Amino acid sequence: MLTRKDFDGQETPTWCRGCGDFGILNAMKMALAEHDIAPHQALMVTGIGCGSKLPHYMKVSAFHGLHGRPVPVATGARLANHGLRVIVVHGDGDAYGEGGAHFISVARRNVGIVDIVQDNRIYGLTKGQYSPTSETGKRTPTSPEGSLDQPVNPLTLALAAGAQFVSRGYSGELKHLAWLIGQALEYPGYALVDVLQPCVTWNSSYSYDFYKDRVYKLEDETGYDPADASAAWEKAAEWGERIPLGIIYQADPTTYEDQVPALAQGPLVAQGMKPLSSAQIQVLLNEIE
Ligand code: SF4
Repeated sequence: MLTRKDFDGQETPTWCRGCGDFGILNAMKMALAEHDIAPHQALMVTGIGCGSKLPHYMKVSAFHGLHGRPVPVATGARLANHGLRVIVVHGDGDAYGEGGAHFISVARRNVGIVDIVQDNRIYGLTKGQYSPTSETGKRTPTSPEGSLDQPVNPLTLALAAGAQFVSRGYSGELKHLAWLIGQALEYPGYALVDVLQPCVTWNSSYSYDFYKDRVYKLEDETGYDPADASAAWEKAAEWGERIPLGIIYQADPTTYEDQVPALAQGPLVAQGMKPLSSAQIQVLLNEIE
């Protein structure tokens, strides 16, 4: 039986003391252990940002890529070996800014990727510029007069893109976050886990104090049904005095992989693929003509 210690890495995190990324790291280890996914059965793909360093501090296979591009790398890895549990970890800038088009594409395709977004509503690594989820009027070094942009709502954007598993966690609710990541790991298609993650150094507007009296769990709400699309839209838009956590929407489990005939016989990497002979290539060319 696995424990979270089986996922301990050799490096010590360099995050600021009190950063919400510590909670996400611990929740990730707990979820993988509880769902019996061993380090060699998971691939973690990250972009650029404070939180994208997370797999440096875990024992897990990982690929640390370019800013905003972990989703296409993860999609390729998943289609090459859909026996792997593929997890993307990145911040709100990486996911909804530089990687925004990839976010929409993977959501509507329902590729089997768990997408953990460390949403601190700021660019932390580069010292506090406003990000896609920063509120209008946010004063930062790149918006000294206050941001003029409307913030992205990741949950409504995911619903509009066709995502079938849309959820929100909070790094200050460790057990709940571990449970939520576990639910995402069990879902066969694309699963968004937007995680409210305080950046204690650059964004005092969204502190632990801000969240502690506002967040509530949908599982505690009588009668909330994550399969109800209308209710999901309502909860996805709720932000202010009350902020919902949990599975906002969960529906169709038909994945992209389910619909690709070449994957029906198992992962491509296990199919003993060989290069085509020139005669076989000619047969294919003849089909096109
Ligand atoms: Fe965490 Fe913010 Fe420090 Fe980055 S800058 S490690 S997000 S607290």
